[in-house]
Amino acid sequence: MSGKAHLSLIERAKKARLNAFAPYSRFKVGAAVLSGSGKIYSGCNMENASYGLTVCAERNAVAAMVAAGEREIMAVAVVTDLKTPASPCGACRQVIAEFGPGAKIVMANLKGAVQVRSLSALLPLQFKKQKK
Ligand SMILES: [Zn+2]
Repeated sequence: MSGKAHLSLIERAKKARLNAFAPYSRFKVGAAVLSGSGKIYSGCNMENASYGLTVCAERNAVAAMVAAGEREIMAVAVVTDLKTPASPCGACRQVIAEFGPGAKIVMANLKGAVQVRSLSALLPLQFKKQKK
């Protein structure tokens, strides 16, 4: 994945972040998934008055990809306004692993800082369904 591809993925995540529903934490997050077909699906975090029902931007972006019929993740970008780009939480790492065990994770903030890691570096020993 080229630097230019990273940038378009980050742009889509930034755009989705603007729609984040985060009235409780005021922490807005945007995510974008690059699928196996080359399409980009985006998502934002969505909080709830019952806090535990909050869903992260990354999982919402993955759900949009799955709803469109795709099953392969090549890369995921996540954008926040933090000083250091944020990495996906543990739950999101596991959800990404289901469709992209080798996915690239592109972490960015609004000031242009970008970090790229592989999912396998962020989530070693991924849990997989296996035969008994
Ligand atoms: Zn998460």
